[in-house]
Amino acid sequence: CGIFAYLNYKVGRERRYILEVLFNGLRRLEYRGYDSSGIAIDSDLDSDPVLVEGGGNGGAQAGRPPYDSAPPLVFRQEGKIESLVGSVYSEADVMDLNLEKPFSVHAGIAHTRWATHGVPSPRNSHPQSSGPWNEFVVVHNGIITNYEVLKETLIRHGFTFESDTDTEVIPKLAKFVFDKARDEGGEQAVTFSQVVTEVMRQLEGAYALIFKSPHYPNELIACKRGSTLILGVKELTDANTGTLFHDVKALTTNGKPKELFFSSDLCAIVEHTKNYLAIEDNEVVHIKDGCVSILKFDYGKEKPASVQRALSV
Ligand code: GLU
Repeated sequence: CGIFAYLNYKVGRERRYILEVLFNGLRRLEYRGYDSSGIAIDSDLDSDPVLVEGGGNGGAQAGRPPYDSAPPLVFRQEGKIESLVGSVYSEADVMDLNLEKPFSVHAGIAHTRWATHGVPSPRNSHPQSSGPWNEFVVVHNGIITNYEVLKETLIRHGFTFESDTDTEVIPKLAKFVFDKARDEGGEQAVTFSQVVTEVMRQLEGAYALIFKSPHYPNELIACKRGSTLILGVKELTDANTGTLFHDVKALTTNGKPKELFFSSDLCAIVEHTKNYLAIEDNEVVHIKDGCVSILKFDYGKEKPASVQRALSV
């Protein structure tokens, strides 16, 4: 029912701060109603690569992930946001997760769910995952109407499903598209936005989506069709003082320190910045290296076109 994401770029932020921004985003969305909630953040690369079950990691994972970056940690809970908050802090304690660790760049995603497919439960909560090691994790507002067909196809290709949601086909489809591109073209075969536009091509229904993937560390992709999605950009002159630039007009250019937000509701963004943009249907927003680029997805065409948009200042 509500989605929220936060990315700090070249701004040192402790994990505890990142968590609180995500939790506060969810608290702002609470009035819309929800039955469960969840978040995904990064684990530590330098820690022992054994993940403790986080209410959504599909069980503890042992061994090495199939990528070089830190595996996303997924936390999900049924019920009130405060019960998610409580469980994240207690699991962080059990996992010995360093809450004071600063991240120069970090991308986190969050969700409040109003169940349409599958009862409210941790396993049906979002983020939904592509499977072991959370290669793609997704938060979703809306309904995927052709999920049954997609699910059957993915099962035929060896995927196993853990939830009863319509949403779970999305991260699994992303992994399918990604693996196929890699098999055909090698490591650098496909960009994050190419994966997502191919996924979009196959989805029917109404949605706002945010994707996070350790194959594309520190990047976020958001897209929408039918549901609301807002991007907020807060540029900082100095990572420590957090003073605002006053001349933020263009979206696409610089690599200055900044904080970026996505939300399904403006009310979760205005406390951080007045520089925002309402994403339009069929747009794919890609945040990479602190820059925002927007592609307009067109069903009729092979390749989506790049668009220039201005922030409302
Ligand atoms: N259809 C999805 C589900 O039931 C998303 C619901 C929502 O927008 O919260 O999990």
